[in-house]
Amino acid sequence: MLRCSFCGRRAVYHRRYAGVFLCDRCMIKSVERRFRRAVNNYRLVLPGERVAVAVSGGKDSVACLHLLTNYCRGKRCEVVAITVDEGIRGYRDESLPVARENAEVLGVEHYVISFKSVFGVTLDEMVKIAAKRGTGLNPCTYCGVMRRSLLNQAARELSADKLATGHNLDDETQAIMLNYVRADLSRLYRLGPIYIPLEGFVPRIKPLREIPEKEVALYALLKGIKVHLAVCPYASGIHTEIRDFLNSLEANHPNSKFMILRMFEEIKPHLKSATPEFEVKRCERCGEPTSTRLCKTCELLQGLGLAKGRKNLISERDS
Ligand code: SF4
Ligand code: ZN
Ligand code: ZN
Repeated sequence: MLRCSFCGRRAVYHRRYAGVFLCDRCMIKSVERRFRRAVNNYRLVLPGERVAVAVSGGKDSVACLHLLTNYCRGKRCEVVAITVDEGIRGYRDESLPVARENAEVLGVEHYVISFKSVFGVTLDEMVKIAAKRGTGLNPCTYCGVMRRSLLNQAARELSADKLATGHNLDDETQAIMLNYVRADLSRLYRLGPIYIPLEGFVPRIKPLREIPEKEVALYALLKGIKVHLAVCPYASGIHTEIRDFLNSLEANHPNSKFMILRMFEEIKPHLKSATPEFEVKRCERCGEPTSTRLCKTCELLQGLGLAKGRKNLISERDS
């Protein structure tokens, strides 16, 4: 029997990059310690703040919701949950009830914003329109841009001081590599544990950014937290290739993901001067903040022959 390197109990996990074994209890403690360290070191949540957590129902966002809610108890900060229902049949309709159930268990207010109610169509329908019109854009482009925008708008309407997402170490290193491959300096510069954007955007925080995906999954499992584990049917392309590449790198050279993160942190301060500053305007169509005449969401909708009205996402009755 393999034993925990810290307490001698039966090990459940081999943390290869650190050369140690962990039992269930030490594993849970370690994840919670890393979460707290990130929150405290980067001042992700301050006393009295209201934090909106983007919860899809997947393991990362649900674990993030649990960790933040527990952290905020007794710290005078408050957590609310937001789920964007993009309308992906067989996927989001299954994860949404999991998000709802977790919010209920934790006693957290939960708001659901659907593409259908805001844009008049689901993501599945958008994908069909995009194929007919030959836009050449993949589902993740529509999904990513629009979900981010709705999360920001909803968090702002809920007067949230921060918007938390469940990005883990794997997500963050994938994003770093993706921006390298795409030579996108300004997006690269925006990565980090906290991003304080310009007016109209709610600051975004990633408290799980230094925890590997496997450890977040194991944490949820060991804590008996209900999560949705399926993979989105649209997941493909460069994101998947970069993920596979990083996983094989990590398998052959443990600690590679942490090294990529650390190296990025060394480089980041030098990127500021090379990143263009932009002035915040209001989108002519929907009124959301943007650097151009139309926000990216409205630009994408226009390409599909659709439009988003100027309306609030959160109404009094919405929780
Ligand atoms: Fe959206 Fe793409 Fe993620 Fe699916 S894989 S949820 S389409 S961004
Ligand atoms: Zn132990
Ligand atoms: Zn717009």
